[in-house]
Amino acid sequence: MAQSKENTPAIVMFPFMAQGHIIPFLALSLQIEQRGFDIIFVNTPLNIKKLRQSIPPSSAIRLREIPYDSSCYPGLPPAVENTDVLPPHLIFPFIESSISLKPAFRHLVSDLVRGGAPPLAVVADMFFGWSAEIAREFGVFHAIFSSAGGFGIGCYCSLWLNMPHRKTNSPEFFLPDFQEAGLIHLTQLAPSISAADGSDTDTKSVFMRKNILEWSDSDGVLFNSVEELDKIGLDYFRRITGRNVWPVGPIFLTGDNRKISRISPEKCTEWLDTKPTNSVLFVSFGSNNTISASQMMQLGRALERATNTHFIWVVRPPLGFDITAEFKAKEWLPEGFMQRVVVAQNRGLVVVQWAPQVEILLHESVGAFLTHCGWNSVLESLSRGVPLIGWPMAAEQFFNAKFLEEEVGVCVEVARGVGFEVRCEDLVEKIEMVMGESEKGMEMRRKAGEVKKMIEDAVRDDGDFEGSSVVAMDEFLNAVLLKKQKMEE
Ligand code: UDP
Repeated sequence: MAQSKENTPAIVMFPFMAQGHIIPFLALSLQIEQRGFDIIFVNTPLNIKKLRQSIPPSSAIRLREIPYDSSCYPGLPPAVENTDVLPPHLIFPFIESSISLKPAFRHLVSDLVRGGAPPLAVVADMFFGWSAEIAREFGVFHAIFSSAGGFGIGCYCSLWLNMPHRKTNSPEFFLPDFQEAGLIHLTQLAPSISAADGSDTDTKSVFMRKNILEWSDSDGVLFNSVEELDKIGLDYFRRITGRNVWPVGPIFLTGDNRKISRISPEKCTEWLDTKPTNSVLFVSFGSNNTISASQMMQLGRALERATNTHFIWVVRPPLGFDITAEFKAKEWLPEGFMQRVVVAQNRGLVVVQWAPQVEILLHESVGAFLTHCGWNSVLESLSRGVPLIGWPMAAEQFFNAKFLEEEVGVCVEVARGVGFEVRCEDLVEKIEMVMGESEKGMEMRRKAGEVKKMIEDAVRDDGDFEGSSVVAMDEFLNAVLLKKQKMEE
């Protein structure tokens, strides 16, 4: 008798409960589903409710809720897991609070096992190292999935593992277990890292260290990355975890599965169609960042002054204001900017809150991307061969920018951090250099083209040839099936 869908063994996907984690997990789930595996997607009730709308009708992904109560951790607002934009000081408490999901997740796995359909695997978030213990208890295959790149998150993890990192007075230092990453500068440390001291009373350090060490209890780590591009960072994780590392990227969600923007992809494409090839600078700082009011003024002036440059700029209220509130162009952009530059000269589009980024980056008029260097943005840009102007703001973004500039040669950093005193002239100089015919700009475009080809090859699967990301996915799924076979013997 055929098993009902509800009772077939599936791969359990378990992301941290924030959109920046849930979206890549959904993309990975859809890809694994295409290869014939059933998926159970686990999250908290509010996120599951949102997911019901974003899962394509063609998908049979099963959704499972586990309870989460933010009051378990002091200082967290109710429904924190449903907040699109979380203030920076709450990010770590939120991450630390997720350990409270452990009993409910154990219960869920136990129920599946007792119901006769033990999971084929648990694929858990990079913050959920603790879930490896549960998978092991029930003899279930376990993998961590990092939606961040190997080099950037490698530096970030190494910093947590080797605190305190300011043993010298020098502003620059090498990471003891990741020398290949080169010199790290104190200005590249996110505030959470700068404030941590690595002591046993510092809860952030204790959580992060324990979490990273628990990755070694897993069967392996999946990365949204590409072997040929990110080998230095991927090898770091092979070394420190002693586990398999499978770079299966790039994995994207497109179109209907993403958040809806106020401007349609068609409208953006229509406008981009009117602009010459490589003449448009796309400016966007990820899903939940903004810049200060003075930085916004400088950037506005720079976009106006940069010669032969058009732009699409995603704006949100500046730091210190409610980021989700109405955008006041008259207050926050240079005087007359909208009328002069956007309306009269038709040089740019100012998009409030959210733009169809993937579709924009696909257009041949886009010549460069001024970005915070979030890894998804980086991959979306490089998949199209679009070079980057980096303005890293948090977490591992500083090391992504460093990697892309020093190792790959496709990025030039223009500012560092949200408090950086950015100057209009510097912005203009870098924008013109990357967008124009300068030797450096042309070299960056050439290298970005090489990376595009590298990425295309990695995901190529045409019968005669399987790219490295396709092979990595095969290896991961084969390892899952092998463990299942062993358990059944
Ligand atoms: N994004 C988008 N439109 C926007 C801003 C962001 O579609 O206006 C998407 C972008 O395409 C990417 C994700 O949001 O897939 C941002 O992820 P990333 O890793 O770059 O940065 P994060 O938001 O996690 O800091």
